[in-house]
Amino acid sequence: MNRKTRDDCLECKDPKCPIHGNLKTHGYQMEGIVVSDRAKKTAIIQREYTTFLNKYERSLRNTSRIAAYNPECINAKIGDIVSISGSRRLSKTKSFVVTKIIKKASE
Ligand SMILES: [Zn+2]
Repeated sequence: MNRKTRDDCLECKDPKCPIHGNLKTHGYQMEGIVVSDRAKKTAIIQREYTTFLNKYERSLRNTSRIAAYNPECINAKIGDIVSISGSRRLSKTKSFVVTKIIKKASE
């Protein structure tokens, strides 16, 4: 083992981390805003999307909330715009993982 990989291991030992651990991501990728980071290693991401109703010829704005795993090395906070990706089911409600922060709330 060379020195660089050992430093990486010290930095983040989380096996569920998508970058340093062995969690595979697949499937749907999307962006959203973090609306809650109160739960440990979890972020609630809210996403807005529109659907068109043919009957009324109008588009409808919907929001959905997704619980995603928030690894300590990423540590997304409220207001951050993040990218999430599908993964295996990590708990009863979590089957997504935060892969990167696109825009910090403080910037
Ligand atoms: Zn990590």
